[in-house]
Amino acid sequence: MTRLLESYAAGRWYTAPAEGRPLLDAGTGDEVARISSEGLDLREMTAYARTVGGPAIRALTFHERAGLLKAMAKHLSDPATGIKDELYELSYATGATKRDSWVDIDGGFGTVFGMASKGVRELPNDIVAIDGNLEQLGRGGSFVGQHVYTSRPGVAVQINAFNFPVWGMLEKLAPAFLAGLPSIVKPAAQTAYVTELAVRRIVEAGILPEGSLQLLCGSPAGLLDELTVQDSVAFTGSAHTAGLLRNHPQVLHGGVQLGVEADSLNCSVLGPDVTADDPELELFVKGVVTEMTVKAGQKCTAIRRAIVPAAMADAVVEAITDRLARVTVGDPRHEDTRMGALVSLDQREEVRKAIQSLRASGEVVYGDPDRIDLVDGDAERGAYLSPVLLRSQRGAVEPHDVEPFGPVSSVLTYDSVEEAVDLAARGRGSLVASVVTHDADVARRVVLGLAPWHGRILVLDRDDAAESTGHGSPLPMLVHGGPGRAGGGEELGGVRAVLHHMQRTALQASPAMTTAVTGRWTTGSPRREEGTHPFRKSLAELRIGDTIATPSRTVTLADIDHFAEFTGDTFYAHTDPEAAAANPLFGGIVAHGYLVVSLAAGLFVDPDPGPVLANFGVDNLRFLTPVKAGDAIAVTLTVKQITPRTSADYGEVRWDALVTNQHGEPVATYDVLTLVAKTLAG
Ligand code: NDP
Repeated sequence: MTRLLESYAAGRWYTAPAEGRPLLDAGTGDEVARISSEGLDLREMTAYARTVGGPAIRALTFHERAGLLKAMAKHLSDPATGIKDELYELSYATGATKRDSWVDIDGGFGTVFGMASKGVRELPNDIVAIDGNLEQLGRGGSFVGQHVYTSRPGVAVQINAFNFPVWGMLEKLAPAFLAGLPSIVKPAAQTAYVTELAVRRIVEAGILPEGSLQLLCGSPAGLLDELTVQDSVAFTGSAHTAGLLRNHPQVLHGGVQLGVEADSLNCSVLGPDVTADDPELELFVKGVVTEMTVKAGQKCTAIRRAIVPAAMADAVVEAITDRLARVTVGDPRHEDTRMGALVSLDQREEVRKAIQSLRASGEVVYGDPDRIDLVDGDAERGAYLSPVLLRSQRGAVEPHDVEPFGPVSSVLTYDSVEEAVDLAARGRGSLVASVVTHDADVARRVVLGLAPWHGRILVLDRDDAAESTGHGSPLPMLVHGGPGRAGGGEELGGVRAVLHHMQRTALQASPAMTTAVTGRWTTGSPRREEGTHPFRKSLAELRIGDTIATPSRTVTLADIDHFAEFTGDTFYAHTDPEAAAANPLFGGIVAHGYLVVSLAAGLFVDPDPGPVLANFGVDNLRFLTPVKAGDAIAVTLTVKQITPRTSADYGEVRWDALVTNQHGEPVATYDVLTLVAKTLAG
């Protein structure tokens, strides 16, 4: 008998006192492992997550959490640990070829790296995140509004599908961890042995705080009963299971948040502009065949519907057929195999049934669902299936309804762009669509027609093909999810994925209290002016609110002339008195905005070598009042935000810059971004 998979619960590995259900190798039918969660204390698991994992993660800043994720991804992908090789080897049993597993394993690690990098770049080195701009709520400026995001003291339950045992876990775990939430991962039984191995290696590495990741191998029955208002469930799988979860009392009445990613009848549209001689035809065909065959079509993003102009249908079918004929099917371990097995014989039966349904309104033009020549492998016990292409009749309903979760796609035809959009929309909401066209007008019309029905759209043509990541690849920085039938959930999309897990609260307070809560200086808060110029202070010495208020400088006509001549910016408003007088906004010569900013720097900069290392940009620059010759400008520069970089001996300082004129009117506002040494040298 093979090994019983273990769950990682409340800080220990748990083996069920049961024989467990056998899990079979997709290609050979041999038993790989057994699975059971009998006797697992789910209440203890959720309590452990809330009381041990959650507090440990939330004691860290976003940047510290991102640092741990990065370290974990480095450890997993480091060839010296051998973890990647182990995962690749074990994944063959799921029917996946090496190329398929690259998407799952390397794709999973890449997603963690991507999320970690976003966390450092786009979230503060703090535990509270700011959403949007400050809202002035009172006339005098003593009452302001600011949206903030904070971590929930709950647990994130992640119920995953069988097709991506590594990526599926990591793409949900990384954002939840960044958001301060501990995760309980429930992999699909059929491929749980791969997830179990990955979790085992993560736990052994000891990089993530204890309690931040638990694993439930086997039935999750009763798990949702243990969840409450601060908890969430992220589900990927069938619409049927999604329906059960949606109707769970704790979701309906208990305040548990549920995110769903379910069936999706994604499409690819070939533009009406594309002829047989255009490179776009081959790009389209290649896309369809890739999506049919990678992971044997068991991908939530696979192209199920190829929507093509009626006049091109024969050419498209012929080209897809030609390519499919070159796809060798067999044992995923064999080097000549292009497409491996479906995950199980049961899954193959499901796909065959779906093909049967599609046949009601379509003709099979490539492949035999009941027969296959294998390069290598056990045709009896392996879950092999030929790629199957169907050509659907006009008005067919099945292709918009039935999801064959395997190497199956249907070609549908259209006569106008409107009809193509209408056909795509009949999928009732999908994860992704692609439009293959080299016509800008077609691209705009199709994209705007499809966008309300899709979470992601790829416009593919000869210009972006070489760098395109393809129709089927979700990316950490882009949204993954779709409306309607696709479940309505949204994952990934950079920092969005983190914020989905957090609570947004509208904070109403005085500027000083807003500064205290957010850790970021808010306009209207007290400023601290001391004898020492803030440019002489290291990161360790600088405080939010530290300010330098400069003396004023009068801007002369000679300054404006000089700047115009020196830079070559001789725009009439700075050089031609008559034309400038006719300008309705200025009514005469005004100083260049960049002159004002340059003079401002000259006023606030402390010139000697010191802790300030560089100015790396300016944010939100606005010129508010024109500066005329004779006006006197002064600057107030205040430390707004301090962000130490964990892996460098310097950090970022964001300064609030306010330039005013002799009447106290704001002339320009902006944030100056600098790098400042953590300590004073020498
Ligand atoms: P399921 O919905 O059966 O399973 C998905 C996950 O939900 C698994 O982890 C499963 O666990 C778990 N689960 C099942 N029942 C419950 C329940 N009552 N409460 C809580 N969790 C539950 O989908 P499959 O993975 O079996 O795939 C079936 C179909 O789903 C595919 O044929 C395809 O159509 C669709 N699918 C869609 C995907 C997408 O992203 N669009 C991805 C994968 C599948 P267990 O395995 O232990 O039963």
